[in-house]
Amino acid sequence: MDALTVTPQPLTADQFGVRVLTWFDQYGRKDLPWQQQPTPYRVWVSEIMLQQTQVATVIPYFARFMLRFPDLASLAAASQDEVLALWSGLGYYARGRNLHRAAGIIIDQHSGEFPRELDAVMALPGIGRSTAGAILSLGTGQRHTILDGNVKRVLCRVLGITAWPGAPAVERDLWAAAEQYTPSARCADYNQAMMDLGATLCTRGRPDCVRCPLQAACVALHGGLVGAIPAPKPRKALPIKTTAMLILRNAQGEVLLQKRPPTGIWGGLWALPECGVEEDVSAWAYTRLGLRLSTPQRGVAWRHTFSHFHLDIHPIYALAENPSKLVMEDTATVWYNSASGVDRGLAAPVLRLLDPTQPSPRKQS
Ligand code: SF4
Repeated sequence: MDALTVTPQPLTADQFGVRVLTWFDQYGRKDLPWQQQPTPYRVWVSEIMLQQTQVATVIPYFARFMLRFPDLASLAAASQDEVLALWSGLGYYARGRNLHRAAGIIIDQHSGEFPRELDAVMALPGIGRSTAGAILSLGTGQRHTILDGNVKRVLCRVLGITAWPGAPAVERDLWAAAEQYTPSARCADYNQAMMDLGATLCTRGRPDCVRCPLQAACVALHGGLVGAIPAPKPRKALPIKTTAMLILRNAQGEVLLQKRPPTGIWGGLWALPECGVEEDVSAWAYTRLGLRLSTPQRGVAWRHTFSHFHLDIHPIYALAENPSKLVMEDTATVWYNSASGVDRGLAAPVLRLLDPTQPSPRKQS
């Protein structure tokens, strides 16, 4: 929806709650399986299944799970294999393992009764603050605030929060706003309504602002920021490292390779000798490899990017005038003939540097 020309009309907490609940009475979801005979146990299972998973996917899994494990005691008594078998296909299996583990803890430490205090619920494996609030509000009617991904998106847009909602300071502000808007009466309906709003109207890609009960107050809508909010997680600028990779050939045209240590980048693969970019390559090769080089030439540098840093690789080509002593003494150093057909497990930059179609050396070192 395009930005509106009128300014947003801020809502008091009461007005906010009334609008959301009025919308819920007319359009909210009230016939989901876990909304029938809601208990903390049923709501808990549904909330865990719904993490990162759509309602339509969860419904048949929830039905099968409840048939086999109708209560906490039956879940705690089952084997983990049985639980995971019923979880099979839902993904994120840590959720199923935590559910099973938590059931055992509730039997041991809470006499088999699902705890009714927020802190005790949050202490169970796999349950964060928002999930604990949802379980207790939807399962017992207590007043607790929730702030799942859907609620975050709605609040960020209504309040015009342009920062990434996962940042701790932003999350603190969102919790404070969510707390302020959560009404004392009908808290369960309100929380369900906020989740429904986010899931059905204020969706990530195509929010249906025309039908939204909060549109008059929505800063994102009025400011033309709906597409920009919530802000994505900022990408960290990766550090840049540099290295010189030496393509040292002997008289037979073979290339000197060294085996990388088993851990770290290219662990266990064969790679080229490396030295600092500013290093005197001839002196370095003589000291470290026992090689006398002739005519070192620099090639065209390029960037290889890892998940956590960029590596700017400066190739240096040279001929070795004598055999390296290391090759005789050290099985982790070899002269490699790329035409030999021996599969050595080469690091990606080595493959590129030994590829004859790559740019050739450009100037004298
Ligand atoms: S008006 Fe649009 S962007 Fe704003 S809360 Fe409603 S659906 Fe979301």
